[in-house]
Amino acid sequence: MSEMKLVVVGAAGRMGQALVRAIATIPGATVAAAIERQGSPHVGKDVGQIAGIGPINVAISDDPLPAFAKADGVLDFTSPAATVEFAGYAAQARIAHIIGTTGCSDEDEAAIAAAARHATIVKSGNMSLGVNLLAVLVEQAAKALDPEDFDIEILEMHHRQKVDAPSGTALLLGEAAAAGREIALAENSVRTRDGHTGARKAKTIGFATLRGGSVVGEHSVFLAGPGERITLSHHAEDRAIFARGAVKAALWAHGRKPGLYSMRDVLGLGR
Ligand code: NAP
Repeated sequence: MSEMKLVVVGAAGRMGQALVRAIATIPGATVAAAIERQGSPHVGKDVGQIAGIGPINVAISDDPLPAFAKADGVLDFTSPAATVEFAGYAAQARIAHIIGTTGCSDEDEAAIAAAARHATIVKSGNMSLGVNLLAVLVEQAAKALDPEDFDIEILEMHHRQKVDAPSGTALLLGEAAAAGREIALAENSVRTRDGHTGARKAKTIGFATLRGGSVVGEHSVFLAGPGERITLSHHAEDRAIFARGAVKAALWAHGRKPGLYSMRDVLGLGR
């Protein structure tokens, strides 16, 4: 089979560069095009050069439509507004769309689900094997422990440039804990605490966010009970783990029927 032709959108970003480096090391995939927004100072430059691996003869463009028309898939770690737009183009081109972008609103999620009628979409707040395995463990632990006795709290830390909170990964882990308890996260989560909050409400899932420096991603899920506490943690040391996961997802999605899939599907860690 010929190599899967991939478009990297947001190609000059932190994850965009990591994706270009990852594709270069993974057999079966190639960078067919690289996209940045109109007016970006990176337009016209070779994307391999930007990613630090030397020229690969792919100039960054600001015109996604012709690029999508000639490609098999799109790797997208950008912003919610851009991702919704790209999902529409991927649906038109009937190709795979791998979405790592976090911070999407309910409206954005609905637009992405609509695009998945024609595009093969894999969307995950975390593309690493480790975090998706952690989510399975969190779900099991939440299911096994009595919610009257064990409080669940999720702590995350990321670099100072991150714009959304809690992280997509913290929410993914919260969803796993809620699934284990068979409750809806939206109605049972505490996203911030400040001032005189009163005692902790039983059965809620709490979130806490730290930001600073260059931290790639730290997540801990605490299950705190009477006299004992279990901590399940993941430490991301390099963005390459997310980039490799995204390329793996693209290869998995290639030729698969349209729909909205998760990294758990890709990794065979299904519910
Ligand atoms: P970043 O460095 O800011 O990169 C985002 C890139 O997308 C920037 O180059 C940005 O350009 C570009 N972009 C934005 N809108 C665009 C548009 N309409 N057309 C073309 N390019 C556009 O951010 P990052 O750290 O790489 O993170 C990106 C996203 O991935 C965030 O949502 C982050 O939370 C998420 N993330 C997910 C995972 C996962 O495993 N799921 C892992 C890491 C990060 P400008 O600078 O011009 O806006």
